[in-house]
Amino acid sequence: MNRRSFLKWANLAGLAVGMPATSAFGAAVDDPKSATASSTKKAASPETILLKDYRPKSIYKIPVTEIPKAKFPIIDMHSHPYAKTASEIDQWVATMDEVGVAKTMILTMATGAEFDGIQRKYSKYPERFELWCGFDFAGYDKPGFGPAAVKELERCRQAGARGVGEIHDKGKGLRSGKSNAPGMHPDDPRMEALWEKCGELGMPVSLHVADPIWMYQKMDKYNDGLMNAYEWRLDNQPGIVDLSGMVDIFEHTLARHRNTTFVACHFMNLDYDLARLGEVLERNPNLYADISARYAETGPIPRFASQFYAKHADRLVYGTDMGFDKSMYQVRFRILESLDEHFYENEQFGYHWALNGFGLDDTILQEVYHDNAAKLLAARKT
Ligand SMILES: [Zn+2]
Repeated sequence: MNRRSFLKWANLAGLAVGMPATSAFGAAVDDPKSATASSTKKAASPETILLKDYRPKSIYKIPVTEIPKAKFPIIDMHSHPYAKTASEIDQWVATMDEVGVAKTMILTMATGAEFDGIQRKYSKYPERFELWCGFDFAGYDKPGFGPAAVKELERCRQAGARGVGEIHDKGKGLRSGKSNAPGMHPDDPRMEALWEKCGELGMPVSLHVADPIWMYQKMDKYNDGLMNAYEWRLDNQPGIVDLSGMVDIFEHTLARHRNTTFVACHFMNLDYDLARLGEVLERNPNLYADISARYAETGPIPRFASQFYAKHADRLVYGTDMGFDKSMYQVRFRILESLDEHFYENEQFGYHWALNGFGLDDTILQEVYHDNAAKLLAARKT
């Protein structure tokens, strides 16, 4: 999922969860001392503030660390063709230089002329961008599916694609950009030839399964991600494979295609259950996980998250998935590198949760920022 879309959340009409009313708050509104400003006070009453509008500011006088540039050079394993024009691409490269990103994987999800067009646009900077292609699922529901899709994959490889992604399955079937295969999941026999060919061509696959757990849960007052959940809700879709089921499907796929390297996007959406992700990583040597677009989901649990990083530092790769603004990168450096506590980044992530830094040590940072991705990319050379 593209988290930039979360920024639209403030326009959501449906997420109307009021703050709990308390007599203390109610009394303040009617306080005669504030009668002069009664109309503005009324508009800002906590009884009418919606969860979606809640923007707390930290009360704590504690250190605030600014990290303009990453401590080590970065390989960003999860981005998309956000820059559309030559000058935007130049601007992106300038920002990458400034913040310390050496190379960015552009997951195009595209095939055919669409892939070729994106590839051409980014070809000015072959050392800074890699283009990954998608799959063409045309005819997936007809007999004989396979050879044409494999042929298009080979053609994209020839045209410069170095990997495949981002391929999605949020529980209803596979999707690669505009190409859909409802009901066909990654472990479907019809996918065998494609996954095998990826291994053969030395093309790693960036695979996104499921979505954050709060999307599958009831949209009620107990939902911890409610401020983001409603727009992306999956709880109301009968027949959808749930998060746990999608993790199982991913594991079947990994076990069946050991010569293909997979990168699970967004901690495989197990950011809420990192212990399970650890077990999946241990069982499957052909798997890495990217940390993209789950900074705000791990920021609330800095101690557990940093223990997880320490334990699986050799299998985690850096990613962003949220455009190319300088501040976008810098917020992520603060979460990974600093030990700052209780800060908000509502505008970027949409949550009202407070975030904390992990203070990862240099060895871990170097592996996650760069070395694991470098190893993964170097291993594919055939
Ligand atoms: Zn993405």
